[in-house]
Amino acid sequence: MEWVRGKTIGYGSFGTVNLVLPKTGFPKSPLMAVKSCETGNSASLENEKQVLDQLGSCPQIIRCFGDDYSVENRGKFYNLFLEYADKGSLADHVERNGGRLMESDAKRLAKSVLRGLNFVHSKGFVHCDVKLQNVLLFGNGDVKLADFGLAKRNGEKQGRFEIRGTPLSIAPESVNGNVYDFPVDIWALGCVFVEMFTGKPAWNLKPGTNMADLLIKIGVSDELPEIPRELSEEGKDFLGKCFSKDPNKRWTAEMLLDHPFMAADDDETTVPFPSTPSQCCFEEFSVSPRCPFDFPDWVSTDESSSGARANSSAVSSALDRIRELAFDEAPNWGVCGSWISLR
Ligand code: ATP
Repeated sequence: MEWVRGKTIGYGSFGTVNLVLPKTGFPKSPLMAVKSCETGNSASLENEKQVLDQLGSCPQIIRCFGDDYSVENRGKFYNLFLEYADKGSLADHVERNGGRLMESDAKRLAKSVLRGLNFVHSKGFVHCDVKLQNVLLFGNGDVKLADFGLAKRNGEKQGRFEIRGTPLSIAPESVNGNVYDFPVDIWALGCVFVEMFTGKPAWNLKPGTNMADLLIKIGVSDELPEIPRELSEEGKDFLGKCFSKDPNKRWTAEMLLDHPFMAADDDETTVPFPSTPSQCCFEEFSVSPRCPFDFPDWVSTDESSSGARANSSAVSSALDRIRELAFDEAPNWGVCGSWISLR
């Protein structure tokens, strides 16, 4: 396929996401997005491609159309082509709705994510990075799970101790035992639900809380994320099943789809997402680009994975592990954009 890089529509820790423009002609609306990074740092993107290929088709999983390499003004890039989600991410949607969603909306969206997770788990994979930014929305009402860069096979051991995904959504067994199996996605789904419904991260942290405090809270203390008081009883029970500290007692995606909170069919209708000013269409491109070099705003990302990676032999207890994982910097937990992802 001959293509050129269009407007930037997203940034992640592993790459930049742009619209894909055909080299010749202009379709009415963009159909594809391309996620790109420099070839030296493409392990995560290539993993995403492999996982998506192995998963196959599911209405709640983003579709992958293939990959290629390109040489651009700043170097050589690996490009992954994905279907374009014209309504952006769930994080954008929550923000557009004043920072929080009604219970019925949050439930409907969570149900789609749960269906996607059920499919991913049925194929033996764990997503490992379920968060608002990785759920993408479409004008026809479709809701799809995206960003499989950190996905792995269930049961596959990690060689080194590390935090996969977002610290605020990390499950207790990942903190305590470096375990990333199916149940971690369910814990993270609970965090996503709370954030959609309250507009705040599931762990309501005091200013100045650092990484060690957070990891101790999740891994060692008996504390659980706060279940919103305004939520219906069924909703509270649902979250309770997601937030079981013991991963063996946490409900599976399949079980949760049958939970009364999800099983009720009052939310089955697909609700289209409204048009927004940020919605992207080709009319926005005033100058027709002729080649990849015509896009001056294309900035490749430095995907060096920052943060603490501990030496496994030195870690002998949960607290030791937390000390190894944590670092002194005190992030601003209230602002999603400043979360620190350690890979
Ligand atoms: P991270 O691992 O930090 O979450 P990443 O480098 O893997 O990031 P993505 O999370 O996949 O990148 O993408 C970053 C953002 O780009 C998303 O939050 C979303 O806003 C946008 N985006 C990604 N893929 C698409 C797509 N197919 N259609 C529309 N927007 C997209």
